[in-house]
Amino acid sequence: MAEQLNNIRIILINTTHPGNIGSVARAMKVMGLSQLHLVSPLRFPAAEATALASGADDLLQDAVVHESLDKALDGVGLVLGTSARLRTLSLPQMDVRAAAEQSVAESSKHPVAILFGRERHGLTNDEIQRCHFLLNIPANPEYSSLNLAQAVQVLSYELRVAALGEAGLIQESLDYTPVDAGQMEMFFTHLEQTLLDTRFLNPAQPKMLMARLRRLYARARPDQNEINILRGILAASQKACDPGFIKPVAEAGDD
Ligand code: SAH
Repeated sequence: MAEQLNNIRIILINTTHPGNIGSVARAMKVMGLSQLHLVSPLRFPAAEATALASGADDLLQDAVVHESLDKALDGVGLVLGTSARLRTLSLPQMDVRAAAEQSVAESSKHPVAILFGRERHGLTNDEIQRCHFLLNIPANPEYSSLNLAQAVQVLSYELRVAALGEAGLIQESLDYTPVDAGQMEMFFTHLEQTLLDTRFLNPAQPKMLMARLRRLYARARPDQNEINILRGILAASQKACDPGFIKPVAEAGDD
């Protein structure tokens, strides 16, 4: 069980109050999670964080601080975002319990990340678009925003229950390995460039095109072979729409 929970990272983005970071460390440790990642926290390390961690300071010491979400998602195969409210162009949603089960099942294959947003504003739309699924802890619809550390507590508890349920049981939720978050970003950059090159995407009026395509591919969760094919198609389209195009065909993993 420890092995599974140790491959699930909790990522806090731009946390304002260091006390919340300490409470998150405690919430995680009590449920057996250990991988705390912080993207540009306002203040860290800080005395309030250590005080509220109350014995979970080892998690704070080991916490990895990143300058960008990209770095925090390095190598991650399943990205889940948490949100106190539902968005206009929402990603597929997953029930918190089902998400915990899926996370535990996939954690034997690749690192899994769960993103938590800022105390005031939650996650940005760009950050949400990096996720495969969006999770919402069911709460009072008129007062649905949990304190950050309490939201982490609920998820950590569900992860522990899921891991307990899995002990001794080998469950394969996916029979293939989807590419990691970094490869998906390279693909989206290539896709957007191709849509510009072919003039399908009008930069003056992008509308929600990239957001919709991201949602589509997040649902598909392509593996390495599929990404190679898709990028091959993109490179060929770029070539075909510009006869003078002399750049060599990009391979997945380039640029
Ligand atoms: N005003 C913000 C709330 C931020 S609360 C908003 O409307 O999005 C800080 C973080 O705690 C959120 O970004 C989310 O990661 C988590 N959180 C709070 N309540 C939640 C809920 N009901 N379901 C899932 N995550 C929640």
